[in-house]
Amino acid sequence: MSAPLEYRATRKRARIHDPRREFALSEIESEVRYDPLTGDSARICHFAFPKRELPDLSALAERTRNGCPFCPDSVERVTPRYPAELLPEGRMRRGEALLVPNLFPYDDVSAIVSMSRAHFLAMDAMPPAVVADALKLARDFILTAAPLVEAREAFGIVTWNYMPPSGASQVHPHMQVIVTDTPGNQLRRELEAEARFLAAQKRPYPAALLEAERGGARWLDEAGGVAWWVPYCPTGMLGDAQAMFVDQATVAGCDDAALDSFAQSLCSVLAAYARMGLWSFNLTLMPDALAETSGRHRLTARLLPRFYLHPQLHNSDTAYLQLLLGEKFAMITPEQHAAELRALLAAR
Ligand SMILES: [Zn+2]
Repeated sequence: MSAPLEYRATRKRARIHDPRREFALSEIESEVRYDPLTGDSARICHFAFPKRELPDLSALAERTRNGCPFCPDSVERVTPRYPAELLPEGRMRRGEALLVPNLFPYDDVSAIVSMSRAHFLAMDAMPPAVVADALKLARDFILTAAPLVEAREAFGIVTWNYMPPSGASQVHPHMQVIVTDTPGNQLRRELEAEARFLAAQKRPYPAALLEAERGGARWLDEAGGVAWWVPYCPTGMLGDAQAMFVDQATVAGCDDAALDSFAQSLCSVLAAYARMGLWSFNLTLMPDALAETSGRHRLTARLLPRFYLHPQLHNSDTAYLQLLLGEKFAMITPEQHAAELRALLAAR
């Protein structure tokens, strides 16, 4: 009999004479949660901030159209091409998606997928077929490039930063694809923890996690081999979501049907976030190494809405806690957040 996952939390109580309550002695609670896999802590606090207001995104789209490197009239002229030994045609296409080398690479194989001919795609009406084509193109590129990466283990990582609060430098929708032996600290540590879990418990952590979450307070939906829920430990200030491919460990291993299912569900979740007044996100698909055969991992996607804390000040939603102390920080409980998302998904 395997042990259940440990969902651990501690409460913190700050005592203050609160000016909002005529200086009555008050206790303000916050919570620290520990990730059941890594043991990493994350905080949940109640924090007052101004109501979010959607900026005029059509004005932003118009302003950035001129000089956009990914629009059809300039993409062929201003984006680089791969050498023939990597890609004989220099670039790859699928539907509206076009894959080109990153002009500012941060790894040996670092590519960009311009996802659409349209300069701007609204978050509440993201077309699943466009997203699916971009993912399939990324997969095909990873399969092409991986044999060329000289490494003990190679990872094919696909990321989408959408709109400026996420760090995206272009409004035109685009994904990043890297094929690397350096997958980042977070993924490396999670995979190491999953390997230890598998050795100790004789079952993969993702299967145990899925079993623990399915149908629970943080559960969102499951269809076509892709399950969605809100993680027990939050990553973003306003709550985030994660997907798991039930049968795949890598993007490279996904067939078209799996990527179609994921794109379909992702677009629904993005529309739900848009109805919360959000208009930017980071999405990363977290795979195992391409050659890994232990079965320790399943491909997961982390979806993190991003925003400016203040509509005029444009202060960032990330500060010292996240960046310097490595501590995640949320203003809503994952269970409340999941309930809101479920209601929005059901209302479609
Ligand atoms: Zn454009």
